[in-house]
Formats: sequence, structure tokens, C-alpha cells
Amino acid sequence: MKNLKIAIQKSGRLNEKSVLLLKNCGLDFENYKSSLITTVANFSLEILFLRDDDIPGYVEQGIADLGIVGENVIEETRSQVQYLQRLGFGRCTLKIALPKDSPVDRLEDLNGKSIATSYPNILQNFLNEYKIKADIQEISGSVEIAPGLGLSDAICDIVSTGGTLKSNGLKPFVDVASSEAILIAREGIEENPIICELLQRIQSVLRAKETKYVVLNVEKKNLDQITELLHGVKSPTVVPLAEEGWVAVHTVISEDDFWEKINKLKSAGAQGIVVMPIEKIIM
Ligand code: ATP
Ligand code: ZN
Repeated sequence: MKNLKIAIQKSGRLNEKSVLLLKNCGLDFENYKSSLITTVANFSLEILFLRDDDIPGYVEQGIADLGIVGENVIEETRSQVQYLQRLGFGRCTLKIALPKDSPVDRLEDLNGKSIATSYPNILQNFLNEYKIKADIQEISGSVEIAPGLGLSDAICDIVSTGGTLKSNGLKPFVDVASSEAILIAREGIEENPIICELLQRIQSVLRAKETKYVVLNVEKKNLDQITELLHGVKSPTVVPLAEEGWVAVHTVISEDDFWEKINKLKSAGAQGIVVMPIEKIIM
């Protein structure tokens, strides 16, 4: 059978985490920086290393079967591809930002203003939604310097910390879209058994990242209270300790309510709490 191809970013913000995700799925491949394509030794897959902007198009055209790319790029290129899985990394927000002393106060004040961006399509959709007529200036990089150069009244760009905005005398104004890395597939290919297998592996890695393995000791008389707090899981494992009247409880809890749960468990009499990462959870 012909190998499937997955396209990932060659270098940049998504490269490392995309490679790590595939390695955590048990895929064995060399990650040569110089090569454009590499074969996975133990799975029917080849990996293409591309510029992120090209990934949705390659997948749409079937040159690659799968891709890992930011939602912002998929939306901007308006590619017809399937979203198979949100991957939880590469999170960022596309925002409109203004010079600190801008007279713009409400969204309507953007009418008639010019906005510089590398995301003209996403911005246009947003402006249409709010019935705002602004002049979109498409530029390919260093968008944040446009107002300072007199090129535009505002910008629309990806912001993660806000530091770049500040150092260019800008302030965030409104969120246009949020984004994270997505596993995409060519239309109609999602039932391919190799894709199903890979997706299952990816999902088990993602699930494991969201959960922790917890072991704690508790006096038997407090056990009911502890198991009550752990009602989210099927049933914790309870093992007697050498010390009379004490047991060890093993369970899995979600990262989301980790601190809240841990503190409640402590108040309910849990001692010697050990928290461990989980590699994979197979359902
Ligand atoms: P390429 O050379 O592949 O075209 P690039 O310079 O266009 O790379 P990067 O800066 O590496 O792209 O960003 C890749 C993706 O990472 C973005 O499209 C976005 O989805 C995501 N991302 C996450 N945080 C940020 C951020 N702070 N700034 C820019 N992109 C971010
Ligand atoms: Zn790019």
C-alpha cells in the first residue's frame, strides 16, 4: 500500500511540537533540518516539511493527505479541508490593535480607517460581520510598524503576549479570532484505516496530557470521603498499606481541576500525595 503523507511546518513555532506529537505517537523518523521529506520507519507514513502557509493548499490538492497547521492559516487560505483534531498547542489570538493615542474608541469608529494585516480574509469576514467599512492594507510581515510609518490607522495581527504591541506603541483593541494547531485531512480520506490508527494514537497522547496519575495514602476511616471526591473516574484502586488501618489510593485526575482536587483531598485526610505524568491513555 502507498504511504500516506503528512505535512508539518519545517521550522517555526509549530515545528517542534508537531514533531514531538508524532514521536509521542510512537513514530520513528529522522528529523533532518535539511530534508523536505522523511519516511517513518515503523508506520506507513511520510512526513513533508513545508512552510506553514503552503500546508492547507497541499492537503486540499491531495499532495499531502494530512497536515498540522494553525487554524488562522486554514481560515485565511479558505482551504477546503477536514478538521480531524484540535491539538491544543500553537494557541494565539488575532487582534486589532491601535496606536496608544488613537481616537478610535468603539468598533464603529473603525469605519473609514485603514488597517494593516497579513490576514485580509479573516479581517474582512470580521468587518463584514459587524458591518464596518474599513480599508484593509495587506502586508506580509512586520505589521506592527505600519501605524508608526503612517501606513495605517490600526493593525490586525497575531498577539500572544502583547510585548511586541507595547514596544511599538500599540494597545490591543478587539479580538478577531483565536487559533490553535489543527490536524487536517484531505476531504474524503478520513476513513482510511491508517488515518484512523494515527488519529487514535494522537487522541491517546492528547488525553494523557490532560490527566495525571495520582497515588495517595489515607486512613481507612477517611476513604469514603476520598473516593467521593474522585467520583470522576470509574473506580480508584485501593491497596492496603503495611501500617494497620491505612490504604493507598491510585487514580487518574484531569489537569483542569488538579489544584482544586488536590487541596480537597488534602483536607479530607490524604497524605503523601504523589502525582505522575501519564504517557498514553488507550480507550
Ligand atoms: P513559515 O516560515 O512556516 O511560513 P511563519 O513565520 O509564517 O512560518 P510562525 O511564526 O512560525 O509562522 O508561526 C506559525 C504559527 O504558529 C502561526 O500561524 C500561528 O498559528 C501560531 N502561533 C502561535 N503563537 C504565535 C505568535 N505569538 N505569533 C505568531 N504565530 C503564533
Ligand atoms: Zn508562514
